[in-house]
Amino acid sequence: MKCAVHHSEAVGVCVYCGRALCAVCSPSGATQRLTCSENCATALAQNEKALSMLLQKHLQSVRINAFFYLLCGVLSIAGAFCANYYLPSPFLIWFCAGCGLIFSVSGIWQWLAARERGR
Ligand SMILES: [Zn+2]
Ligand SMILES: [Zn+2]
Repeated sequence: MKCAVHHSEAVGVCVYCGRALCAVCSPSGATQRLTCSENCATALAQNEKALSMLLQKHLQSVRINAFFYLLCGVLSIAGAFCANYYLPSPFLIWFCAGCGLIFSVSGIWQWLAARERGR
């Protein structure tokens, strides 16, 4: 592969527009994140910023979901305990306890998944 400008051997391609670049073209000498021009570097930085903002928003909504799942889980388990005292019907108790368990587990699972991706 040859450099588009200098006809010497390319050391990489612009990560934004895909043009071949030689050692002279790559401004900072960085090897993994080559960009052919200021424009490409700026556009790339903006893209990444938008992407990370999108990811942050997504993670935030996952966290809110996880919180509500946990809340439902806690309420359902509380419901199972209340039913145990005030309305001792085995079906109601097991139903509430089962729902509570499922909600809690999915809440915790989502929370952990969001934490894992937030790093
Ligand atoms: Zn470029
Ligand atoms: Zn060049």
